[in-house]
Parts: sequence; C-alpha cells; structure tokens
Amino acid sequence: MSTTATLSVPTPSAAFETSTVERRAVGEHDVLIDIAYSGICHSDIHQARNEWAEGIFPMVPGHEIAGTVAEVGPGVTKYAVGDRVGVGCFVDSCRECENCRAGEEQYCLKGEVPTYNGKDYDGVETYGGYSKQIVVHEDYTLGIPEGIELDVAAPLLCAGITTYSPLHHWGAGPGKKVAIVGMGGLGHLGVKIAAAMGAEVTVLSQSLKKEEDGRRLGADHYAATSDPETFESLAGTFDLIVNTVAATLPVDKYLSLLRLDGAMVNVGIPADADTYHAFSLAGMRRSLAGSKIGGIRETQEMLDFCAEHGIGAEVEVLAPEPAVIDEAYERVVGSDVRYRFVIDVAALEG
Ligand SMILES: [Zn+2]
Ligand SMILES: [Zn+2]
Repeated sequence: MSTTATLSVPTPSAAFETSTVERRAVGEHDVLIDIAYSGICHSDIHQARNEWAEGIFPMVPGHEIAGTVAEVGPGVTKYAVGDRVGVGCFVDSCRECENCRAGEEQYCLKGEVPTYNGKDYDGVETYGGYSKQIVVHEDYTLGIPEGIELDVAAPLLCAGITTYSPLHHWGAGPGKKVAIVGMGGLGHLGVKIAAAMGAEVTVLSQSLKKEEDGRRLGADHYAATSDPETFESLAGTFDLIVNTVAATLPVDKYLSLLRLDGAMVNVGIPADADTYHAFSLAGMRRSLAGSKIGGIRETQEMLDFCAEHGIGAEVEVLAPEPAVIDEAYERVVGSDVRYRFVIDVAALEG
C-alpha cells in the first residue's frame, strides 16, 4: 500500500479539500502511475453532487488521467517505467462475458469497475485521477503516443473516446455528412475527430457564439438551432448526428435532419426522458441510438489516431487547489469553459 495526495469531496456537494487515499500495493500485472493531469468531466460534477445514484464518499473524482509509469509489477509486459500512459472511465471488467471478449469492456455484463465512485470486484472502493498516483492493471492502462502533450491528452480518455466510438462505429468518413450537436467538452473533440476522419462536419449549436472556434477546429458548416430556418434548410441532410448535449431536445426536429438510413446517436445523457414520434424514424428508415465511451482496444486506436492527426483537447490548466476546482465546477455547469479543464495534479503537495 502507498498513500497518495488527493483532491476530494468529503460529503455530497461539499467543497473540495486536500486529503489522502491508500493505493493498493503494485501487483503482478499492475502499473503505478505518476499522474500529471486529470481532466474535469461533467459527470464528475454529477457524481460529486450525488445527482445520479448514491455515491461513495469521500469521493476522489477523475477519469481522464494522463501521466507516466513510475513502477511496474513483475508480470507487466505492456509498459515500462517512464512510459506515457492514460486511464479512462474504468479500471477493470470481468474479461469473460461476450462483450468483454469482444473488446467492448464498457458494456461488461457483470459491470465494469469505474475508475472512481465504484468498487473493485474485491469490494475495495475506487478513487480517481484528482490525485498524484494511481495503481491500475496493465490491461486497463492506455499508451499515450509521443506527439500528444499529456495535458491535452487527458480529456481524450473520456471526451475523446465518447465521440470517437460512435463516429467510428457509424462510419464517419469521406463522403459522409456528420452533424455534431453541442460545442462543449465533448462536442469540440467530436468536431476535430470527425473532420480528421474526412467527413463533412456541421456543428449544430444553440447560437453562433462559438462559430469561429468550430471552423478553426475543422467544421465545414455551423448552424444555430435557435434559428427555425436551420431545421428547414438542413432537412434530410445528415448521415450521422452525434448529440453531445445533456439536455432534453425536440428529438423529432433533429431526426428530420437525417437522410435515408441516417442515425442519430446520443452520448449526452439528459436527466429527463426524451420523447419522439415513430413516424420520424419509419419515414426514412432512420435510427435513434446511444453510445457509451469505448473499449480498451478502441480507446488505444483513438489515441493513436489523435496522435497521427495532431488532435488534443483545447484545455485550460488549473492549479490543484480546492477553491480553484470548486470554481471550475461552477464554470462547467455554466458552460463557461473553452473547452476542457485539466488539473495539474502533479503540483499537488504531499
Ligand atoms: Zn467523463
Ligand atoms: Zn465482462
């Protein structure tokens, strides 16, 4: 066991404080990671505020982890001390169910082990990336290629794979028209990745406030969803719509933007239920779908793809101070970040 400094939330919705947690001893196939940066995902906020299921407190959030290997267990073959590595939203899965065997561990039928606010299969609570070190099995550790700085790599481990996986699965590429709904932490990476895949990319955002950024990141078109004209002029246009917005939407209006066989995929999860009419699907053989992060193999593929195309997140780096993280949470809730906060956890004292 080793003790590591953390930024933690002692009770639901409490302010952050500095504290420590115990990390397990480095096992046969474990790597000990010196964390450099940890991204702030909107889901960190939901969990720290107990807005989803009953959380485990104290909580150390963080599942967008980038750092370097400090120590390896004797059986580790994939990584060596000094390697640049990342950890995403889960740190283990059953490895035996059909989904795990297919490399889709994020859909593990036994339930994958979340990086924080969960329990290992042996019952020990998991604590995430807002900390100086973490111990993870090598099979659930990703390699971060040279060519992506660790600060801009961190958000790829959740926001990057969350958008890459549906773009890949639904065949975004040359000749395909793709819309990304929302220009936030997820959406801005969706734009970069879809453009690098060769698709013709349109951002559908509430307003045109971020149009300049959207085009700079690779969007060919940018349209405001607050303008009714948008839904008329773009009717029947897209092969794929990736919806990154975590708010209920007028789903039928968005489905009307899909061409024959088009699909709308939700990666943002609103608190309330969406409604839609089956006519919106049947009329043009459209699909309405959802997608959750990605498996280990696909996450590595995404990191390699991003390195090859020079893609990282647009980040604002934060000092690892409780008050700074509290304020950043408020800004994320108010959509006041371009486009992802990452915490410089290496600078955490202790
Ligand atoms: Zn996340
Ligand atoms: Zn499984």
